[in-house]
Amino acid sequence: MLKRLVPLLLIITLAGCTDKSEPATPPTADSYTADELGTSTIVYGPAAPYYTIEANYDETTHTVTGRMTVTFVNNLGEPLDEVLFNVWPNADEFGGAGADVRDVRVDGQPAEASLEGTVLTVSGVSIAEGATAEAELEFTVKVPEQHDRFGWSYRQTSLGSWFPTLAVHDNHGWNTPPYFPYGESFYSVTGTFDVTFSAPADLEILATGGEQSRTEDGSTQTVHFTADDVRDFFILLNTPYHTIQEQIGGIEVTVAYRDGEDAAAQTMMETARDVIPRYESWFGHYPWETLTIASADYSSDFDGGMEYPRLVTVNTPHIEDDEELGVTAAHEIAHQWFYSLVGSNPYREPWLDESLTTFASYAAYYDTTDFDWIETVADDYSLTSSVDDFEEDDYDRYGDIMYDGGAKMLSYLHGELGDHAFWNALRAYAVDRKYKIATTADFLRVMQEATDENLKPFFEGHQLFIDETLY
Ligand SMILES: [Zn+2]
Repeated sequence: MLKRLVPLLLIITLAGCTDKSEPATPPTADSYTADELGTSTIVYGPAAPYYTIEANYDETTHTVTGRMTVTFVNNLGEPLDEVLFNVWPNADEFGGAGADVRDVRVDGQPAEASLEGTVLTVSGVSIAEGATAEAELEFTVKVPEQHDRFGWSYRQTSLGSWFPTLAVHDNHGWNTPPYFPYGESFYSVTGTFDVTFSAPADLEILATGGEQSRTEDGSTQTVHFTADDVRDFFILLNTPYHTIQEQIGGIEVTVAYRDGEDAAAQTMMETARDVIPRYESWFGHYPWETLTIASADYSSDFDGGMEYPRLVTVNTPHIEDDEELGVTAAHEIAHQWFYSLVGSNPYREPWLDESLTTFASYAAYYDTTDFDWIETVADDYSLTSSVDDFEEDDYDRYGDIMYDGGAKMLSYLHGELGDHAFWNALRAYAVDRKYKIATTADFLRVMQEATDENLKPFFEGHQLFIDETLY
């Protein structure tokens, strides 16, 4: 997500007026230990989820009703007696109690299920180590009237993380964080989706997956989508969009826009044309056939966008400045590498995707890695803070630190390592963690391997503390 808290024009105006030098590096003598940077024993699971969802959107009641099966492998090294899911539509921000889950079965047998807040616990099961299991359930989610990534307004319905999603079990146990409206709690392993979705026939359905077939029966359309190697499956419904399409590299890029947004659409496509080849050369190949950048009306107090695999949104109606629109599109596209390809836990380590994405988008859009316009970096929270470290009154600090603060740290790292070593290391990190989960330790290990210099003093001088990400 990109939520800009300081108008970009103000930042640009300030550029060149300051002479802010790099923060002093504390003289820490010790270097990272192999234990601190070792991640090979961390197991992320359940593995290889394969979701099959048949769902219907009722526009009169604004509910999605569906049946879902998900197969997965118990790779966690011991038998499983429970499986957890995150049910984000049940978050308080969406009115609470907006989801209902029924008829839960595991391997065909009825299972105990309790839905408390956003956490669905399926218990009373026995899944052997290494076994493939199948969970199935029926669900209904109520979509709130809200200009939001999950919400409807007029005939736009944005279905972000709308179905029960397998929680990730890692070295911290099951991850079931609360919903975080100013960033993301969405943490998932890479999987496969087969989604058959019905909706009123006069709405356009944009989705993470590729369309396999489409039928119309009276006033209802049913579209079958599939998507491989993705972490989530986003759907955006609206009255039919205008589109422009272009081949950029091997990718069919579509900009979907609404009436009166022709100029904005051109700006977004120009941005895509400019930044995608850079991202591919810096971070590796974009592996999917399509990428859609869609205009979505997400409220006047939010001038950003939202990332999902293969489909990102930009709050075009509320971003009038051409430059800000371009930077926002560049930011959301960069999330295809940092979030979508290289996964991470955005609640525990939000810097890992937001700082890298902000760095990439600034570097590509402005063709510089100096970022002179970032004059001060807030240091009242460390860069390795988790979302729940922040006081609610300090969510503006969250934005400052995780976005611009982290991008500026990476700018200094570029200076520290030098052009060649820096970009080689960043590419090595992105390629190594592709389709997987990355942690701060993974990032630091790859950077440390790129130089003989002890980087621990540098990173600690920039508020990045490995201890905060371990346990
Ligand atoms: Zn973002």
